[in-house]
Amino acid sequence: MIKEISKFQIESFFKYVAISSESNPNLPVPSSKGQLELAEVLAEDLKDLGLINIVLNENAIVTALLPANIEGVKSVGFVAHLDTVNASLSPDIKPQIIKYEGKDIVLNEKENIVFRVSENIDINKYMNEDIIFSDGTSVLGADDKAAIATIITTLKYIKDNNVEHGDIHIAFVPDEEGGLRGSRLLDLNVFSPNFAYTIDCCEIGEVVYETFNAGKANIDIEGVTAHPMSAKGVLVNSALIAVDILNSFDRTETPECTEEKEGFIYLTSITGNTRRTNVKLNIRDHDLKLYEEKKKKIKDAIENTIQKNTRAKIEYQIEDVYSNIANFLGEDRTPVDLIYKAMENKGIEAKTLTMRGGTDGSVLSSKGLLTPNYFTGAHNFHSPNEFLPISSFYKSFEVTLEIIKLIAKK
Ligand SMILES: [Zn+2]
Repeated sequence: MIKEISKFQIESFFKYVAISSESNPNLPVPSSKGQLELAEVLAEDLKDLGLINIVLNENAIVTALLPANIEGVKSVGFVAHLDTVNASLSPDIKPQIIKYEGKDIVLNEKENIVFRVSENIDINKYMNEDIIFSDGTSVLGADDKAAIATIITTLKYIKDNNVEHGDIHIAFVPDEEGGLRGSRLLDLNVFSPNFAYTIDCCEIGEVVYETFNAGKANIDIEGVTAHPMSAKGVLVNSALIAVDILNSFDRTETPECTEEKEGFIYLTSITGNTRRTNVKLNIRDHDLKLYEEKKKKIKDAIENTIQKNTRAKIEYQIEDVYSNIANFLGEDRTPVDLIYKAMENKGIEAKTLTMRGGTDGSVLSSKGLLTPNYFTGAHNFHSPNEFLPISSFYKSFEVTLEIIKLIAKK
């Protein structure tokens, strides 16, 4: 028999994925109407659950507070994102529950879309279990609506069972995919817990508190044009200057040559001609010192080129984009320890990931709010093969509730 609360969690998930909310990194936040629509529904749901200070702002950011019913405990926040990724699939999500029995699964008879076990062997961890899939024409959107459903379910459980708790802050943010833009706009005067969690990404047990330090560089080079017949001593070729700068970097320090904890400088764009050339670079490293060294290497290469090419005009900016969450872990590791303790109490084996990327928590941590991440329970994000085992989904709820209970015990 399926537990009532698990049923509520699944129903909530179906309700939220029914609202299409793909984001578009090229449009202002919120980049789609669906995100605003979902935000409106959630603001209403939070109100029904007894939360106060509910704010839905012009960026479709929803924040709310469940005030403490006991005194003297720390406040905690939970963050999930409203958008689903644009993976060039259908924006409309039609979820279905299928029991996995060891064979390939027909997700869509009409379109002949089959989930192949041989290409998704992780599914064998969930033999004879009920699993939520899309109809194969879209992502499932467990990234990150599983988290939204889990947070709402936790609040419902707390209300129905009079669970003791400190202040619980909630934030639902838009436009995580393609730039973590919603969390950048989240006002930490409004969303102001002692520490917070994102629930995002990946299978049961996964914990992320190490992400990249990330930055970007933009270089504009203006040369001097001349006809080749009379170019000697006159022509300054901006494209060749760009090549000189790029050649001073290590060709093995690129995404295609690195893995695990190795950082890189990634040439994401080079456009131009003799007269004008623009270069864009992404800078990534888990280690803060190595990250700063990479930034300096780029700066030095450009400055050196400026010295050598006095007739060219070279302008550049090097900016930080987000930080490794672990940079902000001080002596007090309570927020991270609580995840492990909650998982242990619920019989879940923790898998700590060093993420070669960033989370909303990377942005929030660099803004001063320590925000590690734990699992939604889903697999195959950003793919039509995305799937969410109901047992893992339920465990994500259990961990969330357990964290709140552990904080209340202190
Ligand atoms: Zn996500």
